[in-house]
Amino acid sequence: MNRPASNRSGGEIPPGGTIGILGGGQLGRMTAMAAARLGYRVHVFTPEDSGGPCAQVCAAETVAAYDDFAALAAFADAVDAVTLEFENVPLATAEFLAARRPFFPSPACLAVTQVRTAEKAEVNKLGFATAPWAAVASLEELNRALEKIGRPAVLKTNRFGYDGKGQAKIMPGDDAARIWASLKTDDAILEGFVDFIREVSVVLARGQDGAIAAFPPVENRHRDHILSETIVPADIPSGVAAEAERMAAAIATDLDYVGVLAVEMFETRDGRLLVNELAPRPHNSGHWTIEGAATSQFEQLARAVCGLPLGSVAWQPARMINLIGDDALDWPKYVADPKAHLHLYGKPDIRPGRKMGHVTWVR
Ligand code: AMP
Repeated sequence: MNRPASNRSGGEIPPGGTIGILGGGQLGRMTAMAAARLGYRVHVFTPEDSGGPCAQVCAAETVAAYDDFAALAAFADAVDAVTLEFENVPLATAEFLAARRPFFPSPACLAVTQVRTAEKAEVNKLGFATAPWAAVASLEELNRALEKIGRPAVLKTNRFGYDGKGQAKIMPGDDAARIWASLKTDDAILEGFVDFIREVSVVLARGQDGAIAAFPPVENRHRDHILSETIVPADIPSGVAAEAERMAAAIATDLDYVGVLAVEMFETRDGRLLVNELAPRPHNSGHWTIEGAATSQFEQLARAVCGLPLGSVAWQPARMINLIGDDALDWPKYVADPKAHLHLYGKPDIRPGRKMGHVTWVR
């Protein structure tokens, strides 16, 4: 097979080809299952234990560190294109692979989405609102930022945060020095606390030809900072929904993004949308698309990476709940519900806060 040498030369990889996925969790698992349906093989590269959620459904697995460049070179030789399910792969890893195989989303996109301050600056540059924010590298900078932004505020590590980890709320009267010390970083962001009425997200796919297919904005409800429920569509005025989709599409186009992108937003009491975070991969708030949309977010990713046209995003109202920790023990209840679509991720041990599976109902 003729293999393109660099990223944007992409081109079509027909069914029968091999998609490489960085990261071995449930997002990779569901991407691999969708890709397999289209006739692709999937080769997962993960630094974690062999036989994880993704590897269980893959044609091949490499277990190696993200800085094992010999293993990365062999992986590149074995696949036709590369994508990821874990957004914090080191940039050097992404660049090494992108020099050898089509790699989506591009390392340039990851450089933005891996760093909260870079992400917010990019969003603001497009004229879209975020919470007020400031980069913070020391206690003095934190104190100055608190004076400007006010309290309550949220201090977050600038990189590698997820599910509320690496975050602390700073209330009036709180000891900023103690909170700064507890975060154990010199690379942080302070954000004004947003008194939102709802959290919404837009998941979209963008193809190598620049075509965009967006799923409708959905509402996300959290428990202990972890997504617990997604309601499709979000119960928001049609004008706000259209604006959310327009913002997500503009961000994807600005980044020349290829793949699946999730844009998380806060809806304020007065109907404004503030962008909170971008995720450069399939997103938990898009899991409902497996049964609720004509083409799932995972199939869209496989299509985009292989240079195929994106599929239809015709959709139906739906509801998805995550099975977190012991929730997974309730599986008999869901298999007995004729309307429930149960997904379990094949994780061997239940741990508190661990995403074990999800359930979708299409209405
Ligand atoms: P993040 O890791 O940025 O997605 O934040 C995790 C969750 O914390 C969000 O889904 C919100 O529920 C909450 N959160 C984060 N940032 C803010 C903020 N600036 N104001 C209010 N709530 C926030």
